[in-house]
Amino acid sequence: MGVAIGSQIIGTKFYEHVISKVDDMQNNSQNVEDMGSETSVESTQIENKKVQIVLDSGHGGSDPGKIGINGVQEKDINLMIAKKVESKLQEKQIVVMMTRTDERGLADSKVEDMKTRVDIINENKPVLAVSIHQNSYEQEGICGAQVFYYTHSTEGKSAAEYMQNSLLSVDADNKRQAKANDTYYMLKRTEVPLIIVECGFLSNREEAEKLSTDEYQEKVADAICNGIETYLKDIS
Ligand SMILES: [Zn+2]
Repeated sequence: MGVAIGSQIIGTKFYEHVISKVDDMQNNSQNVEDMGSETSVESTQIENKKVQIVLDSGHGGSDPGKIGINGVQEKDINLMIAKKVESKLQEKQIVVMMTRTDERGLADSKVEDMKTRVDIINENKPVLAVSIHQNSYEQEGICGAQVFYYTHSTEGKSAAEYMQNSLLSVDADNKRQAKANDTYYMLKRTEVPLIIVECGFLSNREEAEKLSTDEYQEKVADAICNGIETYLKDIS
C-alpha cells in the first residue's frame, strides 16, 4: 500500500471485500441448507446464515499498536490470535466476520480506521463483537488478560464476564476481573454488545514472550472461543 490513495477509497475497497465475504458466507450457508433438506437440518444451522460474531483485530498498517518489550508489534499478535479464533469458531459452525484479515489497517487515519470498524459492526449486527488487543503499562511487573465492556450494556457485561472467566483458565495467577468503560470510542459507538479483550501485557517480558508463541496464542484463542460459545449458549 505504498501508493497515495485517499482514505475513503481504501475504506470503500475494503468494504467491498467485506461484502463479498458476507456473500460467500451466505452462499455457503445456502449450500448447507440445500444439502440438509434431504436429510434434516438443525435449526441452529439455518440461523447460522447471519453473521454471529465480528472479530476485530486491533490496529494494523501504519498503526502498530503497543510495541512489546521484546520488539513484537501489537497489530501482528492481534491478527494472529484473531485468525486462530476465526478458524476455531468456523469449526463450530459459528459465522464469523473479520474486520481485517491481513497486516493493513482499515484507513489512512486513525479516526477513519476506527469509524470503519464501527460501521462494519453496526451494519452487520452480529450477536457479539470481540475486539482483540494487547495491553502495555509503564511498570513491567503488571500482567494478565483483561476484558472491557461498555458500562451501560448488560449484555456486554455478561459477555465480558464469561470471557474473563474463560481467560483466567489460561493463567492461574491472573486475578483480573472484567471491567466497565464508558470512554473507549468503539464501546460507545457500537450498537451491538462489544467486548475488548486485552490478551496480556506486551510490557511484561514473560507475557510478551508467551504471546509471541504459536502455542500460547492457541491457548488464548481457545479461551476466547470458549468465552464466545458460553455467551452464545446463555442468550439462546
Ligand atoms: Zn490495542
